[in-house]
Amino acid sequence: MKTVRTVAELRAALREGQGTVGLVPTMGALHDGHLSLLRSARQDCDTVVMSLFVNPAQFAAGEDIESYPRDEERDTRLAEEAGVDILFAPPLEEVYPPGFSTRVQVGGVSEGLCGDHRPGHFDGVATVVTKLFNMVRPDVAYFGQKDAQQAVVVRRLVRDLDMPVQIEVRPTVREPDGLAMSSRNAYLSPEDRRRALGLSRALRAAEEAVAAGERDAAAVLAAARLALDGLEPEYLELRSAEDLSPVERVNGSTLLAVAAKVGRARLIDNVVLEAR
Ligand code: AMP
Repeated sequence: MKTVRTVAELRAALREGQGTVGLVPTMGALHDGHLSLLRSARQDCDTVVMSLFVNPAQFAAGEDIESYPRDEERDTRLAEEAGVDILFAPPLEEVYPPGFSTRVQVGGVSEGLCGDHRPGHFDGVATVVTKLFNMVRPDVAYFGQKDAQQAVVVRRLVRDLDMPVQIEVRPTVREPDGLAMSSRNAYLSPEDRRRALGLSRALRAAEEAVAAGERDAAAVLAAARLALDGLEPEYLELRSAEDLSPVERVNGSTLLAVAAKVGRARLIDNVVLEAR
């Protein structure tokens, strides 16, 4: 595995590689969720690039950019073990040089859910993803369903701007007890870790309600809220899984998305409810 810091080095390393290029964008602090994306890329593509960049543009004021977990040595080892060919770990000024003044904004699907609670977040995501796609020029890029709204925003970005990249979204990887893996789980105290289980429990309760025949959005949300077990969500909403438009009834593919602060961690989780 080659670690590169600049776009020039990246382009040189890519010229040495062959065939299809798969990109897995990450902010590091790797866990099994990231590793599942790397495994998919390794299976599908000839050359696997992982980017490692904690993108300041996607953190809103007052968020955790300073304390975000960073361990490049460990991430490098895990990336190498996962079969990454090129680790692209640029410094801040390589991505945002002095005078940088462009933002990419995806309308509609960036609003609501996390968009309402993290001002500018999805502009920051769309901007850095556009840049990474232009730098790496991947054939395929891999994202996690854990960040469901992000995946919809990226698909829309690629469609609207005719970006020549295939987007693959892979399932959420969970701890054995159901907690969705997240770099931010590192912030949880043992007591918070226990309370955080309310999120996945809420999703399961909704799945069970739908499996039992419930289709009314308010009733499904009520079942989910009960299972949160006192956790106060930032949002708990049902949306169309395709375009995030609000729904009154669960039908087809309906996304149930939840976010809550647990201790100092802001956690998100979701499930796609399939009802026919
Ligand atoms: P991050 O480093 O948090 O920006 O995440 C990098 C990529 O990993 C994103 O596409 C995330 O959606 C994905 N990801 C994060 N957590 C998980 C998880 N538990 N399961 C699957 N993918 C994940």
